[in-house]
This record gives sequence, structure tokens and C-alpha cells, in this order.
Amino acid sequence: MTPQRTDVDVLVIGAGQAGLSAAFHLRRLGLSPGDGYVVLDHAPGPGGAWQFRWPSLTLSTVNGVHDLPGASFDEYADIGDLPGTVRASAAVPRYFGDYEERFALPVRRPVDVRVVCDRDGLLHAETDAGLYVARGVINATGTWERPFVPFHPGAARFAGRTLHTRDYRTPDEFAGARVVVVGGGISALQILDEVSRVADTLWVTRREPVFSDVPFTPEAGTAAVARVEDRVRRGLPPGSVVSVTGLPVTPAVRAARERGVLDRHPMFDEITEHGVRWPDGTEYEADVIIWNTGFRSALDHLAPLRLRGPGGGITMTGRLATQVARDARIHLVGYGPSASTIGANRAGRAAATELTRHLALPTRVG
Ligand code: FAD
Repeated sequence: MTPQRTDVDVLVIGAGQAGLSAAFHLRRLGLSPGDGYVVLDHAPGPGGAWQFRWPSLTLSTVNGVHDLPGASFDEYADIGDLPGTVRASAAVPRYFGDYEERFALPVRRPVDVRVVCDRDGLLHAETDAGLYVARGVINATGTWERPFVPFHPGAARFAGRTLHTRDYRTPDEFAGARVVVVGGGISALQILDEVSRVADTLWVTRREPVFSDVPFTPEAGTAAVARVEDRVRRGLPPGSVVSVTGLPVTPAVRAARERGVLDRHPMFDEITEHGVRWPDGTEYEADVIIWNTGFRSALDHLAPLRLRGPGGGITMTGRLATQVARDARIHLVGYGPSASTIGANRAGRAAATELTRHLALPTRVG
């Protein structure tokens, strides 16, 4: 049987902050939902990756969720019993769900895009719900589904439990255990803080963590984004925007410091059956290793398009570096310099504007 085929001008893959922002701007430009543009997402509900974040990640412990274009997040941030206890995994999905309805965005879910190929000048996206054929693609698939764990000798023989930030739920499951928390970012610190209240923890980072007592400024944010943008324009793998912002010294961090939890150790070089070992032979016996070692972009479905250069990165161009230099029909949003809620927002607009122009689609406004 021939798979069902849907033809669209622009296919948006992913309905997180980046995909919804792109969809909003495609709509604003006058593309019609359905044959003008559709958004495919394989998650069960709205919210992008936020729907999967661990329960103790609240709106007071995230860096901040930027508004989507045209609708404020404020009223969703107020839900919950106590201010500051609102789960990001509840508030953001509600916000995104209402947003999709309010702007009648054509989000189809759950639809998994398995692979995108170039056939006769058109982009064919094979999905578990038929074939989508598009003139252009705005890819907004985030990083959540590509957790990164660096290779370490001995990892396979470790008899304890190994998990990544992505699999973390609550500290209770580690009660009484000996836990190695790896990573120098904000997630590592939050998980270390929580787990150390019920377990014996050891904090390990590759580099000396950089704490910042001064509030994070827009200028520092702009500089961090500019560094990542420069990398992708040169075809290098992006690195993370959120990770370069330093570790803010929050009241929780101060309290953890006072409890003696932030005693950082350098990276071990070997994993043994029962723990980790440093080059000088020192060992720490562990039941659990939690890797808070970041994410990579979830782009495997684009592999047949051969977008990557020899260095493993994708050379990007365009006003906000959302356009793939090798193929102007493809934009990556929420990628590299736009991998933050504010960046994803801006990238969605740039991608919608530049792609409709490139495809010479009739639009209402520029
Ligand atoms: P996502 O929200 O990941 O959305 C991608 C969507 O694509 C998902 O819905 C997924 O189902 C879908 N998808 C993926 N692959 C496919 C496929 N093959 N087929 C169909 N659908 C697919 N940024 C901030 O600005 N402030 C913060 O406080 C902050 N905190 C963070 C905390 C954590 C723990 C993490 C990991 C990130 C944080 N970020 C934060 C980064 C931020 O969440 C993202 O950069 C931002 O939300 C943009 O998301 P996105 O739309 O690119 O991706």
C-alpha cells in the first residue's frame, strides 16, 4: 500500500519553543495551516522537552522561560500551591498547549519523523503517519533526546546504576546510596543539592566550576550566544549556550556550600566494578553514577541530507545563523546559538522569514 502523502510548503519538525515560534511566524506571514505549513511532533502532548523534566525542576530553579511570540507566560507561572513550587513540567506544557489552540497552529502529534531525504528537489519526510513532502524544512527537534555521556574506560563493568540527567526523577530513589554526581553545570548542581540530602555524594567535574555571585546580565548572555554563533558559522559543533553562563550562587547553592556538599573533585580516569578510580589509585565506592554531561542536537533524521562537514559540525548562515549553508531550504532552530528559550524564539522568526523568502512563497508581511 502506498503511504499517505501530504504536500506542504514548509514542514516544521518539533513543537517546542523553537518550533512553535517558527509556526507562529509562518502563520503571521500568511501561510495556510495544512498545505502551507504543518508542525509534526512525536511527543505525547504539548510542552516540547519541558514535559519530561524532573518534578523538582520548578520555575524558581530554572534560569527563566522566555515568552513565546504574542502570548505571555506570566499567568501560567502563577499556578501551583506556593510561589516557586510550580513544576516546569506542568506550567510550560499548559502554556504551549493553550498557545497552539489560541493561534490554531497545525500541530500533529504524535508523529515521529524517521528520516528526511532529498528527492527531485523536494524534501521527503518519512514518518510513522505517512509521507510529508515539503519545499522547505524548519527543524526544531532540540537536544533532550540525545543525552551525552562521555566514554570512560571500565564503564561496562560497573555493577551499580548509571543514569543521565534526563533519567533523573526524585532524590528518594537514591536514599542511603553512595552517589557520584558528574558535571559542572546547573543541572548537576541541582541534582547534587537534592541527592546529597538523602545520600552520600561525591561531586566530580572536568574543570573547576565557575561560580558567579553577580546576576547574569543580558550583555553576558549576548557574548555567550555570539561565541556559539561564531562556531556554527565556521562549521564547528556548537557547544552549549546555557552552559557558558556560569553557576549562579542562589540561596540553595549557598546552603549546599554550607553543608559541605560542594567539595568538588577532579574527573576520575577509570570506572571499576564498584566505583571510580583516580590516576593516583584513590578509589570511591559507588552504587550510582549520575552523568550530568549535557546533550547533543537531535538531528539523526536529517543524516541522508549530508549537512555535516568534515569537522562534524554543520556550517550555518543567515541573519541569526539558522540557515544551513549547504542547503538554503533547511533551517535549524533551537540549535547552537538559539538553544535557549529566548534564542529559540528569535530563531523561529528569522527562519520563517528567510525560508519563505527563499522559497518565494507569497506572504502578507516581510
Ligand atoms: P525541545 O523543547 O526539546 O522540543 C523539541 C521537540 O521536537 C520535542 O517536542 C520533541 O518531541 C520533538 N522531536 C524531536 N525529534 C523529533 C522527531 N524525529 N520527530 C518528531 N518530533 C521530534 N533554556 C532557557 O532559556 N531557560 C532555562 O531555564 C532552561 N532550562 C533548561 C533546563 C534543562 C534541564 C535543559 C535540558 C534545558 C534548559 N534550557 C533552558 C534550554 C531550553 O529548554 C531549550 O533550548 C528551549 O526550550 C528550546 O527548545 P526546543 O524547541 O529547541 O526543543
